[in-house]
Amino acid sequence: MLSPNPFTPLLGPFRYACQRDFAQLDTVRNLRLPLERALADAKSQGLTAADLAPFKRELRNVDHPRPEVRQASLQRVLRCMAGLGVELPEELTAITLQSDLAPAAAAESEPEPSSEQTEPSTGHSESPTETQRPNLLSIAPTTGPLAKPLKDIGWRINPRLVATLNRKGLHRTGDVLFLLPRGYEDRRKMKTIAQLRPGERGVVVGIVKAAGEIPVRNGRRHFRAVIADSSGSIAATFFQTGPWLKARFPLGKQVVISGEVRASRTGREMPHPEVEPADDTPTSPVHFNRIVPIYPGFERHEQRSFRTLAYRIAEGYASTMEEPLPETLRKKLGLVVLADALHTIHFPRETEDLDSLNAHQSAAHRRLAFDELFFLQLGLCIRRQGVKTQPGIPFKVGTEALAKAKGVLPFQFTEAQARVVREICRDMQRPEPMNRLLQGDVGSGKTAVAMVAAAIALQDGYQVALMAPTEILAEQHAQTMRRLLNPLGFSCGLVTAGGAPKEKREVREGIARGEVRLAVGTHALITAGFRFDNLGLAIIDEQHRFGVIQRHALMSKGHRPDVLVMTATPIPRTLAMTLYGDLEVSVIDELPPGRAPIITRVFIEKQRPRVYQAMAEELGKGRQCYVVHPLVEESEKVDLSDATQGAERLRALFPDHQVGLLHGRLKQEEKDAVMRDFRDRRIQILVCTTVVEVGLDVPNATVMAIESAERFGLSQLHQLRGRVGRGAAASHCFLIAGYAKSKEASDRLSVMEQSCDGFVIAEKDLELRGPGEFLGTRQSGLPELAVANLARDGDLLSLAREEAREIIGRDPTLSRPEHRGLAKALEERWEGRLALARVG
Ligand code: ADP
Ligand code: MG
Repeated sequence: MLSPNPFTPLLGPFRYACQRDFAQLDTVRNLRLPLERALADAKSQGLTAADLAPFKRELRNVDHPRPEVRQASLQRVLRCMAGLGVELPEELTAITLQSDLAPAAAAESEPEPSSEQTEPSTGHSESPTETQRPNLLSIAPTTGPLAKPLKDIGWRINPRLVATLNRKGLHRTGDVLFLLPRGYEDRRKMKTIAQLRPGERGVVVGIVKAAGEIPVRNGRRHFRAVIADSSGSIAATFFQTGPWLKARFPLGKQVVISGEVRASRTGREMPHPEVEPADDTPTSPVHFNRIVPIYPGFERHEQRSFRTLAYRIAEGYASTMEEPLPETLRKKLGLVVLADALHTIHFPRETEDLDSLNAHQSAAHRRLAFDELFFLQLGLCIRRQGVKTQPGIPFKVGTEALAKAKGVLPFQFTEAQARVVREICRDMQRPEPMNRLLQGDVGSGKTAVAMVAAAIALQDGYQVALMAPTEILAEQHAQTMRRLLNPLGFSCGLVTAGGAPKEKREVREGIARGEVRLAVGTHALITAGFRFDNLGLAIIDEQHRFGVIQRHALMSKGHRPDVLVMTATPIPRTLAMTLYGDLEVSVIDELPPGRAPIITRVFIEKQRPRVYQAMAEELGKGRQCYVVHPLVEESEKVDLSDATQGAERLRALFPDHQVGLLHGRLKQEEKDAVMRDFRDRRIQILVCTTVVEVGLDVPNATVMAIESAERFGLSQLHQLRGRVGRGAAASHCFLIAGYAKSKEASDRLSVMEQSCDGFVIAEKDLELRGPGEFLGTRQSGLPELAVANLARDGDLLSLAREEAREIIGRDPTLSRPEHRGLAKALEERWEGRLALARVG
């Protein structure tokens, strides 16, 4: 039942966004949440995953930073709605009829398995554009029979099908062979319609006896088709209608329907079944009497012709795939032969287990997953090898210099910090450039470690650069560094876009002449005219805020300087290995002593007064509070209403305190001003959207309340929470779960109550949301993995990495005869990208 229409709440914002040829698009943000809500509602009203998949693809795009991508995405969402029979206002219908608005999105849609390729050129973290191309295995060869264009395949193939496939990015036989089925349907023993039982999933073949719209309440229309075989009949029902549905059910023709069977007033029905034409008798060896593959990116009615093609290609070409793995390795790991695996994922033998196939965990899937991970690791190992052979700076790390550096700190290092410092010192001493990622929870003391690294380079006569993503962070770092390093006699310059021109010029010239030894700054550090005298160490804070290109730009200011990148976004081991396989990773997994833990509690809406009471108590002690809001599109005009209203409410509740408002639409200067006011205690309550995420250090802030906490990812909550608990006083984090607090949401949030360990939370988050969502951005260059699942296949990844490292250790150029297959496969799979030696 469609009551009320789940998409109605989207129409307001969409109309606004599309008005006057998208003139106001810029002011419309955060369409993702209402779209998510609409999809959840639609799902609960019986729309199938297949119906919703095209919408889901757009979740990534509706809030894309590039307006043309957003615009094209809105068009696609509207077309999807129209396809489901949602009644659109005239001007929105007009948009669905315009030609594709998608050139920009299409250009971005080619997935590239290398970090450089997927890096947005602006370098800012951007949300990814969901690829339009179905998920191809990342290992298709680029030469030989599998590289043959589909149109030249040698047997009769419908040119319309070729054109469709080309549009989807499938051009070569290998592209078809390497297209992983999204699932499998059990057609080994077909049931008759009479054998279907309500509550079960079923697949049946029958003749279309009747099909058409049926009126329901409120002038709405549904669609219903009756399918019969010799044993009985069943109704296929759809809560929407449209000409496309009629086309799927041609009277008198045979179709396959599959879906969940329900009892209905008139007998049995299948709500929203998947429908496939079956106009020949069900004896075909491709479509019946077997487990059949269902492919991603194709409508159900297109499955049949694609499956026929896949069958011919699997039969004719799978065996031409050469085995790249050395026999000994393959046997040792118990992996099936690649050619067999490729055939089996399309057309599994009758004896295969349907559940493991559908979970992508059959022996064939495992083999393919291993290959994806293994060749990635092998490539990363080789890249790292390349970095190591080119000399950089071998720093002198004398005990005296080290003692001096540590001596300026007002505290003792924790075990973890000491370990990381040792790792960094070892790297810095070596002639090859350091390329190290330092991970540590917020407040774990990364800055202190970076200071020691800086002190070593400085004492050896080199300059050091420290780049941070915002002015206020750069200022904060500059203050810390000055305090610590001035006593050692090193001057520190702050380099930002703001400030007086004269001062700016002086700092700039001082750095170019080598008088200013340490430069702390923002992006301003990498502007074209900016020069160093002898930059030896580049440190990048909150590295996930910067792109590879910006990191490279900073590195290029010196001659192969050492690089230390720091991040407070804990990345689970599996992801770090995939993303940073060629970076050494250090982890600070311990907080400095004397930190009072952050007490986290989940509250529901009606317990809100308790949150305010706790805030009042802390404010009374002279403490400060953060109140964080997610951005929500409440109505067409307001995209900040929640935070703004929240601030108003708090002003009324706490008339004796200053309430500040900070959100992403303020200019950077305005943001910095508000943050400064908060840091200097001119503001006691800071109401903000998630901009506060970036490492602000205000030890006097002891309360963080997070509104609509269920809408945040766990890792994001953890990051936010890290803004409090930075002093010795006990801190509180209140998670206020807003609308529709489901069991799932509360289970998820309770993880926050139980753990304060960023890595535990990150693992959990990765498990719950998957890697794409987890990172929320493509900046990291996460390769497209079709079969391998980083949340699940950690063991396989470790195995792949171990084997890859072992092989490269023994045979760095892969020149031994038994590695010839590897070398060839690697060359093809990385397509020359191994030359890009360094990711930074
Ligand atoms: P991060 O950059 O990892 O978020 P910071 O380096 O800013 O963390 O450290 C947070 C706070 O903890 C700072 O005030 C710092 O002076 C302090 N700190 C760091 N290391 C220690 C330590 N070993 N013992 C005590 N305090 C420490
Ligand atoms: Mg920091």
